[in-house]
Amino acid sequence: MSSLSKLLLRNASRRSGNLSPMMPQLSSPRVVRRELHLAPPFLLDDYIPRYQLLSSVDAAKKRSKAYAHLRNCNLCPRLCGVNRYETTGMCLIGADVKVNVIAPHFGEEPCIQGHNGSGSVFFSGCNLRCTFCQNHDIAHQRNGMDLTPEDLAQWYMKLQETGGVHNINLITPEHVAPQVALSILAARDLGLRIPIIYNTSAFDSLESLELMDGLVDIYLPDFKVWNQATSKRLLKADDYAKTACESIKAMHDQVGDLCFTPDGLAKKGVLVRHLVMPGKEEEGKQIMRYLAENLSLDVFVNIMEQYRPAAHVGKPRRRKITEPGGLQADAKDSDDVRYAEINRPVTEEEVGSVRKAAEQAGLWRFNDPPRHAGFAI
Ligand code: SF4
Repeated sequence: MSSLSKLLLRNASRRSGNLSPMMPQLSSPRVVRRELHLAPPFLLDDYIPRYQLLSSVDAAKKRSKAYAHLRNCNLCPRLCGVNRYETTGMCLIGADVKVNVIAPHFGEEPCIQGHNGSGSVFFSGCNLRCTFCQNHDIAHQRNGMDLTPEDLAQWYMKLQETGGVHNINLITPEHVAPQVALSILAARDLGLRIPIIYNTSAFDSLESLELMDGLVDIYLPDFKVWNQATSKRLLKADDYAKTACESIKAMHDQVGDLCFTPDGLAKKGVLVRHLVMPGKEEEGKQIMRYLAENLSLDVFVNIMEQYRPAAHVGKPRRRKITEPGGLQADAKDSDDVRYAEINRPVTEEEVGSVRKAAEQAGLWRFNDPPRHAGFAI
C-alpha cells in the first residue's frame, strides 16, 4: 500500500470513528457548532415576552398610570399637559389612536422581519415635525382608523394567528404610549405570545418609557441628528439629541443589548438605527461615539443609507408678489427650493465615513448582509 493510500485510509477511519485497535489512538476531532456565528452572551435558548411575566398587581398599576397620562399628557418633551379625552396637543391625537396601516411588513432588518414578516402597526400623527419625514404621508397626516386599545389588541391577535408574524412592531408609538400599554395588557389576556417592538424616533419622555418598562421586548430607536441647530431647523424640536441620549440610555437599561434565539430572530434588547443625512455625516459620527461610550460597545446598530428628499424638502419656496392693482399673492420660485442643503441622496463616502467612525469607536454589531447565508445577527 502506498503511503498516500495509508494516509487516506487513516483519515477515513478517523472521520468514521472506526479506529483499528492496531492503529495509534488519536484524540477525536473537536466539533464546533456555531451555525449562527453568534457570541454566546447574545444567544437565548428560548424567550418569553416580558409582558407575560408581569404580575397582575403591576399590570393594574400600569393601567391606572396609562389613564393618568392621558388626562395630563407629558408623554414627550413637548409637555403639552392637555387632557386628551377633551382635546389634543401638538401630536394632534386624542384618547383613541389613529392607525394608518396594520399588516405583516417585510421592510425591516432581517432579524426583525424573519421569513413571515414583522406585524407592523403604523400609527398616524407624530410628536416631531421632521421636514424630511420619510413616512410623511402617515406621520404628518391624521388619516386612518380610530381604534380603542381593545381593538388594537384584537389586531395583534390577528397578526399573530393569521399572519404568523414574528413580533408586533409598533411604529411611531411615542405619542400614543398609554393606549399602546393598555392594548398590550389586553392582548396578553387574549393569548398574545410574540415580542413587542417599540419603533420610536427616540423623542420620548422618561415617564412614558417607565410606563413601557415590562411591556416592551425590543426598542428600535432612530437616532436622527446630533446638533441643536439641526434639530431646530429640520426636526422642529429644540434639543432633540439630549432627549434621544436620555431615552436610548433608559431603553438600554431596561432591556440591554440585542439578543437572538437560535432561529436568528431578535427577541430582546436595543437596536439603534441611524439614517445618514446628506452633509450631516459629522453628526452621525458623534452619534456613533455616544453609543460606544455611553451605552455599550455591543450595541446593535443599523447605519441606513436610504435617505431621499421627501415631505417639505425640495419643494418650491413661496414668496409674495404684488399683482397689478396692489394685491399681495403667493408666487412659486422654481429656482429656490426649501431645505436645499438636504435635497439630494447621501453619497457612499458619507455613509462609509459614519461606518468607519463607528468601528473606530469600538462598535462591531452591524446590520450587515450575512456572510453565512443566514440572518444578519
Ligand atoms: S404626546 Fe402629544 S399631547 Fe402629549 S406631550 Fe407629546 S405632543 Fe403633547
